[in-house]
Amino acid sequence: MKRIGVLALQGAVREHILAIEASGAEGVPVKTVAELEGLDGLVLPGGESTTMRRLLDSYELLEPIRKKALDGLPVFGTCAGLILLAGTIVGYEEPHLGLMDITVERNSFGRQVDSFEVPLAIEGVGVGVDFPAVFIRAPHIVSVGPDVEVLATHGDRIVLARQGRFLGCSFHPELTDDHRVMQYFIDICVHSKESSEVGSV
Ligand code: GLN
Repeated sequence: MKRIGVLALQGAVREHILAIEASGAEGVPVKTVAELEGLDGLVLPGGESTTMRRLLDSYELLEPIRKKALDGLPVFGTCAGLILLAGTIVGYEEPHLGLMDITVERNSFGRQVDSFEVPLAIEGVGVGVDFPAVFIRAPHIVSVGPDVEVLATHGDRIVLARQGRFLGCSFHPELTDDHRVMQYFIDICVHSKESSEVGSV
């Protein structure tokens, strides 16, 4: 069974763990560098990206997570987690983890519309059955680099994208009973583990 960590400094940790377990994997909270060992994937949940960054610094997790990711660990960032993954954040000089070749803008769906749900057609996630996507003070992906695959848009805004083993979305897939997006990430973890095992033989 795949072992998927959920960064547990802030945000909807329990909901992600339930979604991971409903998708047939083991979900474990991660708060320390030691807990990063033995994972097949890592989820960065939503919350508040500037607060999460402060916590990542004080728990000394930023560089260890970046190193694991660069060494082959699949990472899925949702909402604030997407902001942590982005290589460029509109209005900021420096990224946080900076693992994906994407530009994101924070709080980009307007102040009045703090939270809403829309049916999304997602590439590779069930044909013809939309995914109920919950947006909460959500960022969006303004642009993507050549190696990034756009998997879903809402209007003209990119809200889900993949770059190899890295996946990032604007919405909160853990807040519905539909676990297809989490299942999609776990499939990435299964295949990237297989390819790294093959590569290490
Ligand atoms: N607005 C938050 C931020 O900029 C993200 C919101 C969320 O994760 N629900 O960090």
